[in-house]
Amino acid sequence: MSANARVSDNARVDAEQVRGASPPVEHAHPHVHAAGREHDHVHVEGAPTGEVSLASQPGGIVIEHLHFTYPDGTEALRGIDLEVAPGEKVAIVGPNGAGKSTLLLHLNGILAGGHGRVAIDGVVVEAASVKRIRAVVGLVFQDPDDQLFSPTIGEDVAFGPIHMGVPREDIHHRVERALAAVGMSGTERRVPHHLSLGQRKRASLATVLSMDPAILVFDEPTAGLDPRGRREIMSVLAQRPETLLVSTHDLAMVAQVMPRMVILDDGRLVADGPSAALLEDADMLEAHGLEKPCR
Ligand code: ADP
Repeated sequence: MSANARVSDNARVDAEQVRGASPPVEHAHPHVHAAGREHDHVHVEGAPTGEVSLASQPGGIVIEHLHFTYPDGTEALRGIDLEVAPGEKVAIVGPNGAGKSTLLLHLNGILAGGHGRVAIDGVVVEAASVKRIRAVVGLVFQDPDDQLFSPTIGEDVAFGPIHMGVPREDIHHRVERALAAVGMSGTERRVPHHLSLGQRKRASLATVLSMDPAILVFDEPTAGLDPRGRREIMSVLAQRPETLLVSTHDLAMVAQVMPRMVILDDGRLVADGPSAALLEDADMLEAHGLEKPCR
């Protein structure tokens, strides 16, 4: 289950949340059933430690003992501990239903209300901080249609900065810079639904880059793309200086672009380490519903 599958009912509201214009939602989006599996193996994350250590450099993420249960009783996260250093590129992988999207949606407060906490740059994600957090954490949904809702690409990319109160004279520059960063210079006047999926994915990324986030969170960046579209988005992601958290089933992309990999299964973090090492462990991958990528 991807984030976008659950947000599409009310894409505009969610896109506005993503871009910092709306308050957090607790227990969003009614939905579905559970998945199941055992856990443990390589580099298992340790038990919670009492003291809280919050990141202090821009782009740092600290997740502590995070539990989340949906209103229907589905336990989606069962105690996640994860620290990500500024500038790190981390892939979140795992079978469908593992909790990847639920975890990503906690990073800027779209989901909240469970136990444990998430801190961004030392600031705990909560109702009082959520506006500030959303200026720092740019979340890109799997489905660009959940992110692009304006008549033109330029308006979509300008939406975030306008809402953040960026001076009018700087907006144009921000839009140009964000589109250039994703290889889409000159597309300001294009209509989103006339573009290819790959272009719309990159435009979605531009809608958050225009806010100058320190952290990029991307749900399934390569899903559904043809080889060229996939290569293009991978090359953009590889060059980004921001902290990058990506949920994906594309382990070949992980091998190329994401030096660190975290495996979730049944709401638990079951492995965390260098992607190159974890991707060699065929048995462990198989135990968690994954498959070693072909070379
Ligand atoms: P993933 O992204 O790894 O596929 P999800 O975070 O989408 O996993 O889902 C984790 C678990 O939570 C699954 O059991 C899924 O069915 C369930 N789930 C997801 N969204 C909802 C929801 N809105 N209501 C109830 N259960 C949900």
